[in-house]
Amino acid sequence: MDTIYIGALDIGGTKIAATIADAKGPLAKVSERTVKSGPARALGDQVLSLLERACEQAGVEPGLLNSVGVSSCGPFLRVDGMVCLTTPNICGGRLRRPDLQNDWEIIPLEQVLRERFDKVVIENDCVAALVAERTFGAVRNEPDCVYATWSTGIGFGLCVDGRILRGKHGNAGHAGHMLMSEQSQALCGCGNRGDLEAVISGRNIGQSLNLSAEELFAQARAGNRQAEEAAISAARWFGRALYNLVATLDTRVFAVGGSIWTHHGEWLKPAVMEELEKRMPALTEGVSVVPAALGSFVADVGALSLVIPPEWIESWSASEPWRTLAASAPAQLSR
Ligand SMILES: [Zn+2]
Repeated sequence: MDTIYIGALDIGGTKIAATIADAKGPLAKVSERTVKSGPARALGDQVLSLLERACEQAGVEPGLLNSVGVSSCGPFLRVDGMVCLTTPNICGGRLRRPDLQNDWEIIPLEQVLRERFDKVVIENDCVAALVAERTFGAVRNEPDCVYATWSTGIGFGLCVDGRILRGKHGNAGHAGHMLMSEQSQALCGCGNRGDLEAVISGRNIGQSLNLSAEELFAQARAGNRQAEEAAISAARWFGRALYNLVATLDTRVFAVGGSIWTHHGEWLKPAVMEELEKRMPALTEGVSVVPAALGSFVADVGALSLVIPPEWIESWSASEPWRTLAASAPAQLSR
């Protein structure tokens, strides 16, 4: 029987990584800066050539690669059933940002990949992370769970009754953009004021004190009163968001990742749990918040998990072969 290979793409606003794997685990990974100029299919062509380079590095004949899983920053737009990217930090035609040297409204990602591959599965990065955490991580086989990331952005992947939610364009879980406060002037990258990401994202959390997120948490945890208040206030907003999701989805467990939670989750958790548990016990009793298990590997493992043959899962669970990969930069895990 021919050896089976799978490909994985982690598409972020800054960097793109391509990984090739066989039944034993990942064989090679290459990455480069996300292309942001040229024709609208330039990004599609970039990922095709990156996958070819990963094949070359792995010593795999590129023609043997037939399936590819993609974990990408969103949001998406489905056009004629095909997933296109409409990501504001890549598509210059969307918000007319002066720092983007293109006028792309949409990037026809699925169409370009389907010209080359038989099997293409594209998911929002938090949905891919949810699949990874349900396959190999903290919420294995859990039917009612949510993956959440708290990093430079805030995002969610939602699973109800064992079914992963996608929505009309594949954007289910963009709950970082749910409106939380009309009083807040904090501005989100999406254009909203006062949405969850605007109020507590790593980009904004220290803004009122003129501190980076890292400085804010360092000062807060060293006992600086103002910094501590700002950090705990953010934890409370996060807890309210989790409550809203429990009220909407009847979730049992949240697996939380992202750089802020990875470094400060244990410290923030009491305030988060208090916001969650003080509301409507019939819904919130027994709901748990656990650390995501895949850490900085979540984007690569997420993309691989979308196309992994089921018969590989048991041995990958035992050997965790992704640990041979170079970890992704935190910026890639922003949503
Ligand atoms: Zn927003």
